[in-house]
Amino acid sequence: MNKKNNKKINKIKNTLIAKKKFITSQLQKFAKKNLKIKDDFKTDFPKLGDHQDENAIEVSDYESKLSVEHDLENELKNIEGALKKTSENTYGICSSCGNQINPKRLEIMPEANLCIKCSEKKK
Ligand SMILES: [Zn+2]
Repeated sequence: MNKKNNKKINKIKNTLIAKKKFITSQLQKFAKKNLKIKDDFKTDFPKLGDHQDENAIEVSDYESKLSVEHDLENELKNIEGALKKTSENTYGICSSCGNQINPKRLEIMPEANLCIKCSEKKK
């Protein structure tokens, strides 16, 4: 790998690490870190009171937090995967088909581990 490429990878690495920190801090606002599983977070289930109305709000609040938690965790996993790739010199290569991921896609989503075709197949 030449120097120019190294610089580029370092920049990507820094972006990914910053993103990881940001997402972790977002998660920690409402979820507890699972100390046994790396990068896993748990949203606290609300304490339910005597008022039915309040409980309904709390439960729906809990459910929306769970889905946010799920999205953030997925993003964290992608970032971890992309970071691993930067150290293995395979950054930018699709984890599924092995083709080069479109650089424009990586510019918008530096944590992308799949090319557009494979990520659409997953959906
Ligand atoms: Zn692919």
